Amino acid sequence: MSAPPKSNAKAQVAAANAMTKLAPIAAWTMLVVASLVLLGWCLQIPALTRLMTGTTSMKAISAIAFIASGISLLGCARRPRAGLACFLPNLLVLLVGTASLLEHAAGVDLFIDHLFADPEAIALGNPPGRMSQMTAVAFILMGLQGMLVSQQRMPRLAHLLAGLLLSLGALSLTMAGYGYRVGIIQMLPVAVPTAVLLLLGTLGWLVLQKPIGIMRVAFADSPGTVLLKRAGIPALLMPPVLAIAIRAAEHLLDWTHTEVVAAVGYLSGVGACAMVIGMAWLLHHLDEQQQKARRFHDAAYTDALTGVTNRRGFDEAIEHLLQGHRGTDHGFTMLMLDLDHFKNFNDDFGHLAGDEALQITGQILLESLRPQDIAARFGGEEFAVILPGTEMAGGRRAAQRLLQAFRTHDWPYRKVTVSIGIANSHPDDTAATLIARADEALYAAKSGGRDRACEAAVGPPASGL
Ligand code: GH3
Ligand code: MG
Ligand code: MG
Repeated sequence: MSAPPKSNAKAQVAAANAMTKLAPIAAWTMLVVASLVLLGWCLQIPALTRLMTGTTSMKAISAIAFIASGISLLGCARRPRAGLACFLPNLLVLLVGTASLLEHAAGVDLFIDHLFADPEAIALGNPPGRMSQMTAVAFILMGLQGMLVSQQRMPRLAHLLAGLLLSLGALSLTMAGYGYRVGIIQMLPVAVPTAVLLLLGTLGWLVLQKPIGIMRVAFADSPGTVLLKRAGIPALLMPPVLAIAIRAAEHLLDWTHTEVVAAVGYLSGVGACAMVIGMAWLLHHLDEQQQKARRFHDAAYTDALTGVTNRRGFDEAIEHLLQGHRGTDHGFTMLMLDLDHFKNFNDDFGHLAGDEALQITGQILLESLRPQDIAARFGGEEFAVILPGTEMAGGRRAAQRLLQAFRTHDWPYRKVTVSIGIANSHPDDTAATLIARADEALYAAKSGGRDRACEAAVGPPASGL
């Protein structure tokens, strides 16, 4: 007995617009931060190349790649099919990453080390101008991702690249400022601003992608969307935040290896518990909101006296079903009911007794119909019933069942009977023409002696109705 579902397309568009705003924000952050770093290298101001975050600098070549990616991201955010102007900067990002990795892997000199020498790297015995191997891999992925997104090609691969980049960005941030060994390879440290820009840039490119996979949830308007928006970033940042906290404790409190391991285990567990509790609270809160919204919706579509759907719900339902009928075979049947001699009933027993009879009518309708049927108070002591997917024969049976229910009900005061008009929907019907045919049949039932059902003529409605 519910009103037809309302489209949430508007909410989805608003959510999508809010999400895509992240792309220009990420692009401008990349441009400003990387330009400052490049300025630091040109003017030889070391604090600017690190942006005061530890000892590792963002290399000049990385800053150039971020500026290229930022320009392209900004262009794509403004014009989704920006073409070559967006493609070429991404190609540059890809080439920078590939050249850096080649220098690391094959030891070839592609002049990156001659660009701006980092005294800190030289002091540690590291190549003077090269970005970390991890950053080089990230730029290869980011360049590829940008090329695919700007050309709107291979959305699944672009998503996969974004996933890899997010995990690589989180790992870079976790290990930021620290060099470490992987097998025989000595990995160079990643600067904190580099790791942050990698994560932000990836998110910026991600929101411009076609909403498939998990991004469908991000762009929708569901509890999953709220969960992803509220818990996604904290989950992504949990490993780096834990790593930074533990490292700080290690330095400040002079912890042993065993104490560090214990702290990692404990804090990871506490972090996971905090996330679960946060999600549970969020879901509970969302459920409460939905229940409240449902109650408001039900109240807005329910007739207070009789408990059946009100006129507004009936009007929307009939429009919805008529729209469904046009161009398809999914017809329905409508019953129009009017209580017999109800004026006399009111005159004899009073309006309150009349109201009680109307309440009982609502109960009879709700009890006698199928869950998918819609019983509505059309106005006064007139009721309308919509029987979806029902032909005239089915409508006739439903009408007989209702007549019988009225006849056999144990009424207070005195028996109340009803007259019913039955009309079958036609693809050319409007709500007005269908109601008019049901009304005609109802008046036939009245003039035929009441306490009976009559059928309306079948076929297209007469013109002018
Ligand atoms: P008929 O068999 O031809 O339908 O005769 P009737 O007396 O029922 O005639 P009609 O349908 O025109 O009468 C409607 C009456 O219903 C008049 C009004 O007093 C009564 N009515 C309409 N709404 C309400 C209501 O909310 N509560 C009560 N108690 N009576 C109502
Ligand atoms: Mg009436
Ligand atoms: Mg009446």
